Amino acid sequence: MIVVNTVSALRHALAPHRTGSIGFVPTMGALHQGHLELLRRAGQDNDVVVLSVFVNPAQFNDPADLAAYPRTDAQDRAHAENAGVEIYFAPTVDEVYPTGFSATVSLAGPIVETFEGAHRGSGHFHGVTTVVTKLLMMIRPDRAYFGQKDAQQLRVVQALVADLDIEVQIVDVPTVRESDGLAMSSRNVRLTPDDRSMALGLNQALQTGRAAFELGESAEAIVASAATVLDHYSITAEYLAVVDGADFRQVVDVPSRRAVLVVAALVGRTRLIDNIVLQ
Ligand code: AMP
Repeated sequence: MIVVNTVSALRHALAPHRTGSIGFVPTMGALHQGHLELLRRAGQDNDVVVLSVFVNPAQFNDPADLAAYPRTDAQDRAHAENAGVEIYFAPTVDEVYPTGFSATVSLAGPIVETFEGAHRGSGHFHGVTTVVTKLLMMIRPDRAYFGQKDAQQLRVVQALVADLDIEVQIVDVPTVRESDGLAMSSRNVRLTPDDRSMALGLNQALQTGRAAFELGESAEAIVASAATVLDHYSITAEYLAVVDGADFRQVVDVPSRRAVLVVAALVGRTRLIDNIVLQ
């Protein structure tokens, strides 16, 4: 595995691989089984796998959240090496945003303004789209892998590459969960044992919501049944809603198209998100 920290070293390392297919997995590090699944898929589909580890300040609305974000570089390198990553790209903030940097790549509309966009602020998805565009320009991969765990981000990235005609295939990977259903997340290490028990309520609520959907219930009834479970776990949701999987507009009647039940909540001091596809 080659470890590179600069764009020029990255391009140099990639040069001999340009004749084959390049798979790219962008992450913020603190790697877990979810990330490893993305890497596994990338390894299956491509001749070479590039992993980026970059905690992107531009997508954090809360400086305390950015400061507390777990950073486990040595461990991440070991995981990446075991997962068969050929190029490990861990740039500094100055490398990505040098002095004088002033570009922003942003989408408009409900897809970036609702739910995560509303709760983390409008700058959140602009930070995501700016850094993803930069990473795609730096690496120029054939395929890039994103988790369904961050369903809205996945849709935003799909819209980004469609709008800008970026020549890359976006591959979505189902959410990897702990055996009890909790979605894997880098933030889970910050959960206390009590938080960890409470966090189970998120997936339980989503499962209950899906059961209601399967009975033909309306979006309102689906949300109400999921909310009962959150109450049981004493979780106050930031949002809990049925959304159209394409544009993240809220669905109010009986979900007819590919709908997703999404939830975000503060569990103890840790903000968690999860979702389940209904249809
Ligand atoms: P992050 O490091 O949290 O920014 O995540 C990097 C990528 O891994 C994103 O595309 C996430 O959606 C994906 N990811 C994070 N957690 C999971 C999970 N539990 N299952 C599948 N993919 C995940």
